[in-house]
Amino acid sequence: MVKLTQEDKEYLLSTIRAVKDFPKPGIVFRDITTLLNNKDAFKFLIDHLEEHYRDYNLDFIAGIESRGFIFGAALCARLNIPFVPIRKPHKLPYMTISQKYTLEYGVDAVELHVDAFSHVKNAKVLLIDDLIATGGTAKASVELINQTNAKCVEACFLIDLVDLKGKEEIEKLTKVYSILEV
Ligand code: AMP
Repeated sequence: MVKLTQEDKEYLLSTIRAVKDFPKPGIVFRDITTLLNNKDAFKFLIDHLEEHYRDYNLDFIAGIESRGFIFGAALCARLNIPFVPIRKPHKLPYMTISQKYTLEYGVDAVELHVDAFSHVKNAKVLLIDDLIATGGTAKASVELINQTNAKCVEACFLIDLVDLKGKEEIEKLTKVYSILEV
């Protein structure tokens, strides 16, 4: 398994912009648009993910709306496997299954097309998103995948906000690979 050096990680982190007080006071938003805008950094990241997942024999990558779509779809093209979007309610046009999760105030949900994994028996799925904070979205997404005929074999995040301990929650359900710890 290829490991990134500390220098590699510092390089990737340096390409991600930290925006203070967005979308509300007290939040430091990790803006990955600056990484995407840097062709060398984006290629470096996707090269690394391709090497990391080359021998997993994945059947699908499921990306969480919306930044998980970008990394997930780019990696699917490299691994020559299909991409599945996991979206917020009422965005997917066909029949869906849904998994609710609790927020600080209220409830949200993630959805998946019912037939997303149906053409592969016991499909092995990688879940991907840009960042894990409390882990609520990712946990619901793993549960959603596992409600189908498929299995989430690993969840991958570019950034783990370690203080929020979301990764520990996901590790109860599946393996986790987080590239950068912030
Ligand atoms: P959570 O469910 O709390 O783990 O939140 C994860 C989702 O919220 C991911 O889809 C992230 O893109 C987004 N998110 C949460 N906190 C941040 C942050 N500080 N910077 C950028 N995105 C964030």
